[in-house]
Amino acid sequence: MGKEATLVIIKPDGLIKSLTGNILSRLSETKLKIIGAKLIKVSPDLAQKHYRHLADKPFYEELIKYITGTLHGDDRVMALVYWGEDAIQKVRAIAGATNPEEATPTSIRGAYGRILTSGLFENAVHASSSIDEAQREIQLWFEPQEIVYPLYPAKEIEVPATRKYVWA
Ligand code: UDP
Ligand code: MG
Repeated sequence: MGKEATLVIIKPDGLIKSLTGNILSRLSETKLKIIGAKLIKVSPDLAQKHYRHLADKPFYEELIKYITGTLHGDDRVMALVYWGEDAIQKVRAIAGATNPEEATPTSIRGAYGRILTSGLFENAVHASSSIDEAQREIQLWFEPQEIVYPLYPAKEIEVPATRKYVWA
């Protein structure tokens, strides 16, 4: 076991139903530390990379619409990194089973998830399921300086002049 990091995403249905506070409260029962948090729009590219292991599933296309917000007409998701003893298992336990109908009623997915008419599991949160998956996902969703703890080896690079938005 030991200390480990895990990625949690509050999916578009969680945000649109104003469940952010409830979900964070449930996750705080784990006593894990939040070491990264941000609200972002999920691009199709990020969605495809995140769910690349499910690309051959019949529900894949709808899953991409789900995580990018197209399905709910709201493209916000909240991404969080939790850190601590047995973090992956602790978060998965509180998140509940993938299928919200099979999830324990007191779990996040059991309480807030549902199965859409299409069959897609709308289940409010994502949680990493292994150490390797957590590392891949955290490195996909976060840059090193966005996490307040040096989780994985990082290096400094010279960035050529770029353009960015500033307040007008
Ligand atoms: N999913 C689905 N139907 C399935 C399996 C998965 O709709 O039969 C969706 C569901 O939203 C799930 C996501 O695809 O959270 C990712 O699937 P995974 O097998 O990784 O489950 P998780 O790790 O999220 O429990
Ligand atoms: Mg998974």
